[in-house]
Amino acid sequence: MSGGSEKKTYQAQSITVTFEARRCLHAAECVQGLPEVFDIAKRPWIQPDNATAERLAEVVRRCPSGALQYELVDGGTGAPTGPAGSPAVPPGS
Ligand code: SF4
Repeated sequence: MSGGSEKKTYQAQSITVTFEARRCLHAAECVQGLPEVFDIAKRPWIQPDNATAERLAEVVRRCPSGALQYELVDGGTGAPTGPAGSPAVPPGS
């Protein structure tokens, strides 16, 4: 037995997209949402430089299986993180 579970990484200037083939349900949300980036006729089939990071993140979030994920170079991730209400002001002086 071998392969099938590896996660591939596609790096653009301001976003990194990862794809885990074994989780893909072939729902085609990605290729329909952003065909200039997700094109199975091309190699590599994900070309993250062909769209803005914002558009790319939007389509990646639509992936129903979690096969696609992203991480913004400046720190954001595909997993929403709610602020826990920590105070933004420093403790009193
Ligand atoms: S949207 Fe996700 S599940 Fe659907 S084809 Fe693309 S990677 Fe696969």
